[in-house]
Amino acid sequence: ATPTALMVGTGRGAQLGILIKGPEVLESTRRVDTVVLDKTGTVTTGRMTLDEVVPAAGEDAAEVLRLAGALEDASEHPVARAVAAAAREALDQAGTLPGVEDFANEQGLGVRGQVEGRVVLVGRPRLLADWSVTVPDELTAAMASAQSRGATAVVVAWDGRARGVVTVADTVKDGSAEAVAELRRLGLTPVLLTGDNEGAARHVAGLVGIDDVHAEVLPQDKVDVVKALQDRGRVVAMVGDGVNDAAALAQADLGLAMGTGTDVAIEASDLTLVRGDLRVAADAIRLARRTLSTIR
Ligand code: ADP
Ligand code: MG
Repeated sequence: ATPTALMVGTGRGAQLGILIKGPEVLESTRRVDTVVLDKTGTVTTGRMTLDEVVPAAGEDAAEVLRLAGALEDASEHPVARAVAAAAREALDQAGTLPGVEDFANEQGLGVRGQVEGRVVLVGRPRLLADWSVTVPDELTAAMASAQSRGATAVVVAWDGRARGVVTVADTVKDGSAEAVAELRRLGLTPVLLTGDNEGAARHVAGLVGIDDVHAEVLPQDKVDVVKALQDRGRVVAMVGDGVNDAAALAQADLGLAMGTGTDVAIEASDLTLVRGDLRVAADAIRLARRTLSTIR
């Protein structure tokens, strides 16, 4: 009867839009008490749009957007897509974005490359600090103000000087707040984990009802947050969609990937939420509990 019930559970999962790697996964699903949620692309849509461009004193906003967009056109990051799309739109019929040479992606920090012979950086202040570029107070203030509104702000620099700040905004997915409430009803503790800034993270956490926030976590450090929770005796489920979530998904007692996410995240996970709907994470846990109580 045991294998049959598990097979039925697996089949029911498929109907709900949950792909389960193997029947044994249901056992770890049942024991989970903490759910770590990636922010961008998991709790939010990950489809960011341009919010504002703030040039540094003496700089031109259109030029800041044009060079940032040209560089970001070479990146797949949600921030990059928003900046590149806005830059292309601003050009309209007036030409195309210039090409990029020596492109480098600094995971969790930003991007760097040569555009029209200038060395351009777009990313977190920390990326600029790595290249000894200082961010003037006016730009730091612009970033802080954007972040307090929940936007993600990145600095644009070229030839060793910060030239402006570009801010992008994301929206919380329909159903994310409901999903968090449902996870709580199931007795689980939700935790938000992101590489994004503290302000944007707290803003999203507030909208969906999460108190426990880990922000500005580098991709390689996300796994440590999961490990630390496990060391404190928690049984951890991690929900994510990105390449930068893969190690944490694999480390978690239960990894859940958004079906709308990257293949790397899906491969590292035990369960896939086919439609990328966070509410289905709660369904998965409920299903596992029900299936296994039938067996016992
Ligand atoms: P998340 O955990 O939200 O998916 P990441 O770890 O991918 O975030 O990125 C963290 C932060 O690094 C972003 O919020 C952004 O500030 C910066 N960043 C990463 N990639 C880029 C990029 N291509 N362009 C600009 N900024 C970037
Ligand atoms: Mg993500």
